[in-house]
Amino acid sequence: MAVIVQKFGGTSVANAEKIRAAAQRAVDAKRRGFDVVVVVSARGHKTDELIDLAHGITKNPRPREMDMLLSTGEQESVALMAMAVHELGEDAISLTGAQIGVLTDTTHTKARIVSISTQRMQELLKAGNIVIAAGFQGVDSSMNITTLGRGGSDTTATALAAVLNAELCEIYTDVEGVFTTDPRVVPSARKVERISYDEMLEMASLGAGVMHSRSIEFAKKYQVQLRVRPAYSDGPGTLIAPESDAANSVVTGVAFVRNEALVTLVGLPDQPGVMSSLFTSLSAARIPVDMVVQNVAREGFANVSFTVAEDELPAAMKVINETAKQLNAQNIEQTTGLSKVSVVGHGMQTHTGVAARMFHVLAEAGINIRVVTTSEIKISVLIDRDQCSRAVETVHKGFGLDQPTRPLPDVGYVAADRHAGQSSGAEVVADIVSRLDGMESILVSDVSADKDQSRVTISALPDDPGVAEAVFTAIAEGGVLVDMIIQNAARDGRATISLTVPSGDLDRSILLLREVLERYTGSQLTTDRHIGKLSIAGIGLRSHTDVGRRVFRTLAENRINVEMINTSEIKLSIVINENECDKALRLLRAEFGLAQE
Ligand code: ADP
Ligand code: ASP
Ligand code: MG
Repeated sequence: MAVIVQKFGGTSVANAEKIRAAAQRAVDAKRRGFDVVVVVSARGHKTDELIDLAHGITKNPRPREMDMLLSTGEQESVALMAMAVHELGEDAISLTGAQIGVLTDTTHTKARIVSISTQRMQELLKAGNIVIAAGFQGVDSSMNITTLGRGGSDTTATALAAVLNAELCEIYTDVEGVFTTDPRVVPSARKVERISYDEMLEMASLGAGVMHSRSIEFAKKYQVQLRVRPAYSDGPGTLIAPESDAANSVVTGVAFVRNEALVTLVGLPDQPGVMSSLFTSLSAARIPVDMVVQNVAREGFANVSFTVAEDELPAAMKVINETAKQLNAQNIEQTTGLSKVSVVGHGMQTHTGVAARMFHVLAEAGINIRVVTTSEIKISVLIDRDQCSRAVETVHKGFGLDQPTRPLPDVGYVAADRHAGQSSGAEVVADIVSRLDGMESILVSDVSADKDQSRVTISALPDDPGVAEAVFTAIAEGGVLVDMIIQNAARDGRATISLTVPSGDLDRSILLLREVLERYTGSQLTTDRHIGKLSIAGIGLRSHTDVGRRVFRTLAENRINVEMINTSEIKLSIVINENECDKALRLLRAEFGLAQE
């Protein structure tokens, strides 16, 4: 019989009435002929209350005991849910993570799923039960209880849907579906009918808390049909599927992380191995870094900046202090009180001017951009926290996301799809999934090299609103499709912007930027006509910190210097010297077990 997985979040099981309503949905699905697995979160604010309880006793609870404590929230809900199903006249059995056989690694409080045994669930379903599974939890190989990280019940649900080959996985929550941005922050946000796995993966990992980003990794890897729906009504919700809505504008949504911190290692020797050391130490601590920026080296010294979630800063600093010493960094700087705002959408692969528009609306609102990074389908900016909500609202409106039908904004359109001819992904992914040793292990599906890009760097720009806009408007007006963008954290009031363009457009780009250089006296333009760009494609590349570690270790061991990096969940782009491109491609393909081209 076809299996359906239904997951109910905390607010959707907050009290007896809501538990009864959730149970009714499960019973209805069963009576429509499905085998039903229900995944339940802890009730209401239970998890927060348990965390507060622990902090009332100690500032530093050991992670193992935190997991023991937090897992009780879900245990309470599954028992209550099973009772509610019984009351409606169907058989149901509640199971903890351990009882289902959710085996995880040993990383307490952010464990990853290694495997799930389906035997017991299959037997219970066959016997006519609705299976009620505790979300968010598992056990490691020594039977210690583990949890998957905040919001992790979504991941339990999609993982169960994957192993049970479910026809559908429904995520019931307290909003109508996935919106263009958090509807609690921007009331004019609109529900999206359909969003692609890649867009949702980026949105979730860049702050859209409606889905746990790792759940989307499962959905994409195992091609799970996922629907986010309201628990309180019969709304159809949002379908998360391989492709997004064709009618979407160039940008699908705006995500934000309110509490970000910026760390800068100042005065590092400009030599291979710096990124490797950094990513190795942070990877060991399982801390994902984002917005990684390395400035163009001066007199043999470089600065490297990156952002981490502010609540991970203390843990990050512990390992960074050690690494900085080993690398002989002259200084470490930390800035807190920052927010990251990102726009996400497939359209930016083929439309010019998306960056220009984002920078334009921010400049108009007087919001200064501290750091910029991009990836294939996202642009992220770092700004001051007190401007976060305003920035989100401004950008959301700036791309017409508050409009019911969204005419394409007046950004240019480039007919030639530069991604045409690349493998679509689904078959490649299926092939690689079969070779993974753990369900949540890293998935690198391709490594490719592009020697047809050039780099333009404009340095000594004033650190003022409107500067990034001027640069990218000039480029967009010439119809040049910019690929990677990085703007460094300003030093001494001066900012640097680097971008890559197709080599054939380099001379035109230099001409287009002439006026900008004249406007900002003292600014300088340098170009690298011959650069090599490596692209590592896959799923969960940023949050699985190990990918960065392996990439940068491979390059460092072979003395290949990293000149520019962009990270995202689906792609890692790295600029190196063009002469080393073929060698690096060979090495990285070997590192990730991919056939040599
Ligand atoms: P649950 O307890 O059901 O897992 P969550 O609180 O984890 O619910 O997720 C739902 C919340 O996500 C919504 O209440 C909303 O405030 C927030 N949210 C953030 N970004 C978005 C978005 N783009 N679309 C919808 N909701 C979002
Ligand atoms: N109860 C856990 C949390 O609040 C897991 C979840 O709700 O998904 O984070
Ligand atoms: Mg949630």
